[in-house]
Amino acid sequence: MVAFAVSYWLRSWAKIKERSTSKRLIASCMLRMPCEVKPRFLLLYGSQKGQAQAIAEGIFEEADKHGLVAELSCLNENEKYNLEKESAPVVFIVSTTGDGEPPDNALKFVKSIKKKTLPPDQYQHLTYALLALGDTNYANFCNCGKTIERRLLELGAKQFYATGYADDGVGLELVVDPWLEGLWAAIKQASNKMASDKNDQLKVNVTQTPTLQDVQFNQLSLSDHQPNPENTSNISTGKHAAMVTQTAITKSKPASSETRTDITSAPSLTNSLPPLSELALNVPALPPPFLDVALQEVDAQDKTCGPPNKDALYEVPISKAVKVTSGDAVKTALFLELDVSQYPVNYHPGDAFDVFCPNRAGEVEEMLRRLDLWDKRNHHASISLLKDTKKKGAQVPSHIPDNVSLLYLLTWCLEIRNVPKKAFVRALVEYTDDSTQKRRLQELCSRQGAADYNMFVRDQSLSVLELLSAFPSCRPPLSLLIEHLPKLQPRPYSAASSCLRHQGKVHFVFNVVEFPACSWRPDGRRGLCTGWLFDLISPALQSSGGQLLPKVHVSLRPNCSFRAPSDPSAPLVMVGPGTGVAPFIGFLQQREKQRQENPGVAFGETWLYFGCRHKDKDFLFREELEGFVSSGTLNHLKVCFSRDNEEVEEEVTESSTRPKYVQHKLLFDSKAITSILLQRGGYIYVCGDAKNMAKDVNDTLMEMIKTELQVDQLEAMKTLAMLREEKRYLQDIWG
Ligand code: FAD
Repeated sequence: MVAFAVSYWLRSWAKIKERSTSKRLIASCMLRMPCEVKPRFLLLYGSQKGQAQAIAEGIFEEADKHGLVAELSCLNENEKYNLEKESAPVVFIVSTTGDGEPPDNALKFVKSIKKKTLPPDQYQHLTYALLALGDTNYANFCNCGKTIERRLLELGAKQFYATGYADDGVGLELVVDPWLEGLWAAIKQASNKMASDKNDQLKVNVTQTPTLQDVQFNQLSLSDHQPNPENTSNISTGKHAAMVTQTAITKSKPASSETRTDITSAPSLTNSLPPLSELALNVPALPPPFLDVALQEVDAQDKTCGPPNKDALYEVPISKAVKVTSGDAVKTALFLELDVSQYPVNYHPGDAFDVFCPNRAGEVEEMLRRLDLWDKRNHHASISLLKDTKKKGAQVPSHIPDNVSLLYLLTWCLEIRNVPKKAFVRALVEYTDDSTQKRRLQELCSRQGAADYNMFVRDQSLSVLELLSAFPSCRPPLSLLIEHLPKLQPRPYSAASSCLRHQGKVHFVFNVVEFPACSWRPDGRRGLCTGWLFDLISPALQSSGGQLLPKVHVSLRPNCSFRAPSDPSAPLVMVGPGTGVAPFIGFLQQREKQRQENPGVAFGETWLYFGCRHKDKDFLFREELEGFVSSGTLNHLKVCFSRDNEEVEEEVTESSTRPKYVQHKLLFDSKAITSILLQRGGYIYVCGDAKNMAKDVNDTLMEMIKTELQVDQLEAMKTLAMLREEKRYLQDIWG
């Protein structure tokens, strides 16, 4: 959702050119380049949400300063590059999306290199480095990068630099940062080697430059590159001589006592303790500003409301809203029915709908007041590029419409709840007066302060506004926010209905997300969209009926892979605890209708695994599910309750362990499920929480395969991979 701001990693590298060790290295490389022709390399990216693209663009921007020429292309723009004839090093930056799929703009490329007809020496001439972005909360971590790499190696290409596998689940920068640092030396090394191989004369000087062995390790992990807090000087030495250190900041004495470090107290967002508070810091380079915002008074008040692209969306009334959890349930789940009958919406079970919601009015007002712009809230903002910006390829973000009021801009266009990335924190330093606050912001964006950033900013989902309230002397201009805040994204919700059963209607079920209170958010807060929907329908929930429900803007988000099997006779296993049951309600409604209309057709057996906390508080769609069982549409309904103490399941008699979660229930049925998947050509679908459930189910499936087939871990992994490849093991997960 959020384009990862990486420019700080990249711009800082320019500094290394001035540093003595690397200067020698670059000089030695350049000496080998006749007529000072800069070595070139090809830079290819595949990016879904802009993170991989941002990293690739950052590398592109910095190449020149490192004495290199980068040729940048998106993987799908195959008219711009030719791997078959490429004679320079190739650098791939690729993300993974959905259920381990390639990003849309890499699909064509991945398909082309997967062709079985390619000869094994197709890329024998290629030498490559690859940075894969992924998220370990999802199955198939970095799958796209791994697929590309596997095929490159199978087709004869050689790796010139260790592949980086960056995990958005813990922070991409933990791997991206050191990977980028080592990249320049590795490219030069590879270029030299290719040039010397070609001319068959110059050999790489292994004593002066990092050797291929130095950079060819299989996986770059955090432990490989732990920054040494003692080594805060500007020059790296040894094998990573060309690694870049960022601007070094030494501890300055606080000029005011406003937020003076208190070494007797615990560290917090605003308070650091030794050793961090006494360390010299490596902070990222300042991202160059690139936007100019002019405010214009207008005669008439801006009446624009609703999302910017509303003409392309469906504006539909909520026709029904029900709270489906009991009052004392831990989570509040809401059921919504939207009336889409006035539009030709043809959705399939498995599809989702994007819901477009605004930022909360109170937060928008607070933000405008914080920026001293509340009095100008109705002024129109005209946004253009700064004339003398140093940012290469700078553009006015496409999600900023022309001629809208400030109020509209902050309400509908920018994700003002966004957790500030380190580059943003770095930029905020420049607008902070108080030296203690300045220092703390520097710490939070520095290498040495990475753990504090994770603990107090990232893990707390701290919004920009919350950060600003903790640093009162920080007064950023509006332009800075527009430069750093991403587009306000719609939130998708899986259809919990089939339009065969509910014509002109679509159903959703969702949990109202609750963020716990912390020092800078004493009252906690609700998720943006779920909190907004909750507020919208609350009056109707509380009244005894007759209350007119509001309209919302939505758009269809088809999911072509998470569809019920096309062969109705194939056995089907569905795993959907909590709101993850949503698409399966759609599947089962569709199946019921198909059974009624096709009495002669043999339908395969269906299994549904559902779990929640308490049988009587949050068993979603209980009556409907039991109805499917009665009608024979659902053959096996397996439910478990993680917080009910009484033993409610029949399986308890078979084992001393009470099944708490869906994976425990699956394990009970190990024989039947593995037979469905491995002998009977069946399907398994998993939907819901990405953080724990999907992984636990995956691990359990692996165990089941190991036990039932009597194979080792590797074989079990291969079997699961095969099921995924055949699209018989599908996931639709979020969190
Ligand atoms: P935000 O203000 O955006 O905050 C979200 C943040 O809250 C996340 O970054 C995460 O850190 C945290 N969080 C805590 N609990 C949750 C949680 N349960 N879900 C998401 N984030 C959480 N949600 C449903 O409830 N029902 C659905 O049917 C459903 N279908 C989805 C289908 C798809 C294809 C996808 C990608 C997501 C789906 N989601 C569903 C998740 C949904 O889109 C939102 O992410 C979720 O409702 C939170 O939105 P929010 O604006 O209220 O929270």
